[in-house]
Amino acid sequence: MRNTITETVTKVHHWNDTLFSFKTTRASSFTFENGQFVMIGLEVDGRPLLRAYSIASANYEEELEFFSIKVPDGALTSRLQKIQPGDALTLTVKATGTLVPGYLKPGKHLYLLASGTGLAPFMSIIKDPFIYDAYEKVVLVHSVRYVSELAYKDEIEKILPNNEYFGDQVRDKLVYYPTVTREAFEYQSASEAANDKSHHTRITELLAQGQLSQDVGLPDINIEDDRFMICGNNDMLQDLMDILNERGFSKANSRSLGEYVIEQAFIEK
Ligand SMILES: Cc1cc2nc3c(=O)[nH]c(=O)nc-3n(C[C@H](O)[C@H](O)[C@H](O)COP(=O)(O)OP(=O)(O)OC[C@H]3O[C@@H](n4cnc5c(N)ncnc54)[C@H](O)[C@@H]3O)c2cc1C
Repeated sequence: MRNTITETVTKVHHWNDTLFSFKTTRASSFTFENGQFVMIGLEVDGRPLLRAYSIASANYEEELEFFSIKVPDGALTSRLQKIQPGDALTLTVKATGTLVPGYLKPGKHLYLLASGTGLAPFMSIIKDPFIYDAYEKVVLVHSVRYVSELAYKDEIEKILPNNEYFGDQVRDKLVYYPTVTREAFEYQSASEAANDKSHHTRITELLAQGQLSQDVGLPDINIEDDRFMICGNNDMLQDLMDILNERGFSKANSRSLGEYVIEQAFIEK
């Protein structure tokens, strides 16, 4: 039996029909590294029904935050999407995962590549002031199918840059690069060099064609300067790993540092 604790839901926000976020209380004994995941869930028929979830809040925040898919007939999320403030949520006591900046060799530019709910661990990481001390630029790419799936866009663009403690570093170093693959979307970040504002290219193509670094005004990716953290579906992970491996980048794990780390955003069944 897993060692679990119970927290209380404090806030729920529905982004659209397929995505929602929620916050819970946090026991002072619950510690984690930004980028890690934990098992969370609900009591169903007297038993905990748990799934892996990346923690979207930073490790210094008072509450925990999660960003979730709504799978219509999903065992957990068909129920979880109905939670309300005051409801109980079950969590395992120990967070884990390899998607942590500490596994990366030192570098100049950190690329955070997310598809869908794979954004969750990066919300934690971009709220970590130490990341801005460690890197000259932090590029956050969020790839979604539809514009309504660009969750946290306002927080990234408007709230974080005004953070009273590290907002100046965010303004100076964080580059947000949303991309929407199945409907029209125009966007131009402040640092974007190209005139073409259409952001509809899949992350794999952005990286393979060198468009990403060009668009954000950085040199072509290279092993000396660039580090990657990747969280998304399996196909995307595999394709991105192929691109990086071909160029000589190595994957980090708990035993050896590397130039990139990955986490599956979900298990395909
Ligand atoms: C390390 C790790 C971290 C994860 N972090 C998150 C997270 O932060 N937010 C989150 O919503 N889910 C996350 N997941 C997925 C999560 O564990 C569950 O799969 C999800 O909550 C659905 O649970 P379910 O019981 O409703 O459906 P399941 O039976 O678990 O899933 C049904 C099917 O839905 C699809 N699916 C599941 N999760 C997703 C997803 N996130 N995006 C798109 N399709 C999906 C898959 O095809 C899956 O086979 C993570 C998974 C792993 C392994």
